[in-house]
Amino acid sequence: MARVFNFSAGPAVLPEEVLQQARDELLDWHGSGTSVMEMSHRGKEFISIAEQAEADLRELMNIPANYKVLFLQGGASAQFAMVPMNLLRGRKSADYINTGEWSKKAIKEAKLYGTVNIAASSEAAKFTTAPAQTELKLDPNAAYVHYTPNETIGGVEFPYIPETGDVPLVADMSSTILSRPIDVSKYGLIYAGAQKNIGPSGLVVVIVREDLIGQTVAGTPSMCDYKIHADNGSMYNTPPTYAWYIAGLVFAMLKRNGGIKAMAEVNERKAKKLYAYIDASGGFYQNPVAVGCRSWMNVPFTLKSETLDEPFLKGAKATGLVQLKGHRSVGGMRASIYNAMPEAGVDALIAYMKEFHRTQG
Ligand SMILES: *Cc1c(COP(=O)(O)O)cnc(C)c1O
Repeated sequence: MARVFNFSAGPAVLPEEVLQQARDELLDWHGSGTSVMEMSHRGKEFISIAEQAEADLRELMNIPANYKVLFLQGGASAQFAMVPMNLLRGRKSADYINTGEWSKKAIKEAKLYGTVNIAASSEAAKFTTAPAQTELKLDPNAAYVHYTPNETIGGVEFPYIPETGDVPLVADMSSTILSRPIDVSKYGLIYAGAQKNIGPSGLVVVIVREDLIGQTVAGTPSMCDYKIHADNGSMYNTPPTYAWYIAGLVFAMLKRNGGIKAMAEVNERKAKKLYAYIDASGGFYQNPVAVGCRSWMNVPFTLKSETLDEPFLKGAKATGLVQLKGHRSVGGMRASIYNAMPEAGVDALIAYMKEFHRTQG
């Protein structure tokens, strides 16, 4: 059976070599006679898998020693609440930049714990852009500043890292982590649901500066306390062991293939050629996002007429290009082209788009 090019926004395509390795190791991991799924999380085999995954992620992202790396559950959505529970630290309010659907969900949860100051919003522009640094109305007394570097649904990516002075910067990097090098020391906390660029859904990776943890709001459950997770090596309870293992295979694969810098070069090339083709289609295909804020990872586009959507998707599927339907809130199409989408997949998509335009335009 041939594998298709899967443009799903998440759970998304995984690197084929990782799936092959997982298959080869499924019944008997390294001569242990068991699957990783069947191992005690406290046994030396799984501990070695967990520690290697963390070490590889630290190396890939150049994570400074004063940051904890946590492998938790509940996806990025659990972090929408855990961030204010842990980082308000006795302060009354936090700043949020609102750039789309994921920002809004984060804001909704933060309001359960404190006052949210909207430092900037691109809602009036229908979330087709990210505010510039000069537009941010930041409160110097805020507990932290939260933003979404890549809005997965709108396909909007910040072209810069917000400058927040002494106020810790918090980023929901679910759909952009590992897609390009970043300076982790500019952040107080980074979180990312795994199912876009890391591994299976359910797992969420949290990278947090250690001086920010241990001051939770009253009533915070143990399972929501970063300090408790950090003190227990993310094994306060049974962690999602198999997802952690797959994440580790992805990190090792990235290291083998030149790290994040090499990944970024391919990602930039993939995105550039897709946008270039859309822009050159004479309006047959359109992407609404401000050119400087176009995402490398999620490329939404509409066709000249909505009546073309169904035939486009049908023909794409027949060509082995799947999961291109746009999010229900935006409509049209969306091609998610994460790390694991090969450049050949983007080339195949562009070739199909050209052919569709030729025959249906
Ligand atoms: C996918 C996504 C989420 C939600 O992740 P879950 O694992 O479903 O909770 C949150 N934020 C962003 C930016 C995402 O892309």
